[in-house]
Amino acid sequence: MFDKVTLIGIGLIGSSLSHVMRREGLAKEISVSSRSQETLDRAKELNLGDHYHLDAAEAVKDADLVIVCTPVGACEAVAKTIAPALKKGAIVTDVGSVKASVIKQMKPHLPDTVHFVPGHPIAGTEYSGPDSGFASLFEGRWCVLTPEEGTDDAAVSSLTKFWETCGSNVETMEANHHDLVLAITSHLPHFIAYNIVGTADDLATDIKSEVIKFSASGFRDFTRLAASDPTMWRDVALHNKDAILETLGRFSEDLSDLQRAIRRDDGDKLFDMFTRTRGIRRSVIEMGQDVAAPNFGRDGEGDEPAS
Ligand code: NAP
Repeated sequence: MFDKVTLIGIGLIGSSLSHVMRREGLAKEISVSSRSQETLDRAKELNLGDHYHLDAAEAVKDADLVIVCTPVGACEAVAKTIAPALKKGAIVTDVGSVKASVIKQMKPHLPDTVHFVPGHPIAGTEYSGPDSGFASLFEGRWCVLTPEEGTDDAAVSSLTKFWETCGSNVETMEANHHDLVLAITSHLPHFIAYNIVGTADDLATDIKSEVIKFSASGFRDFTRLAASDPTMWRDVALHNKDAILETLGRFSEDLSDLQRAIRRDDGDKLFDMFTRTRGIRRSVIEMGQDVAAPNFGRDGEGDEPAS
């Protein structure tokens, strides 16, 4: 589909893109750039690209598609670095978990001669780095594109086709709307997980060992989310601040309601609440976003939960 694709950042998402592009023949040439020599050397050992550059500007030369796969907080610096070297007519996109901030950081630096189509594949795991990627990561998952008004239709169609070939379902929406939706479906669960696992860690050593020992209960599911990359999630917190604070506020109010229902022995309220949420779990399965197998299919052919 593309003569040359450049991946800037080659961690979980960048390496997964490389694997799926190779499998589907999406690029004649893949150029890879990473910040450290160590990651670049590992990407080379894994054969994730055809050319390797520490300098992102070198990497984007002659590229038809440039995909920025770094933490969200690095996007402005990347845009500044690559801007002078971008080919006329190139599509520039990203995979960041936050969209309005990425647009604010990148757009002012990109030349008018390129098409900027921000994106977010809603697919991930708690692992990071070039070894963690796999070709099927995006299969059956959503990829949200947030082009601003006036963006070239052909560029949006081309990127849509790219993600569909990677196995994703593509939806286009406004960046702020994306950030609000993801604040509740992805960001809040991660921050709750970081918080609950942090609270457990603060307990006395003897109790802490019990927590880990009996973690096959609900706690274990939180530890998976809380093992996610600290740099990525620090940047998500700082770059989607308003939407996250809004959802955290609502969450705290609802938690107080729950607390009150327990204190007042209000079994009906608790039963109604838990019945409603059980229905939501069924909808997630019906929409193909998780498997119906007990325990997330861990004992059998498990599916990777999306981040
Ligand atoms: P990752 O595995 O940690 O890889 C990050 C890559 O970016 C590495 O190549 C790293 O280079 C580079 N990098 C880190 N800091 C940088 C900086 N300040 N300047 C330039 N390059 C830098 O990350 P990832 O999980 O692939 O996430 C990448 C992006 O995808 C993030 O924006 C994240 O929000 C988004 N995303 C992640 C997930 C997920 O579940 N992980 C899901 C959807 C979207 P070095 O190793 O050389 O330092």
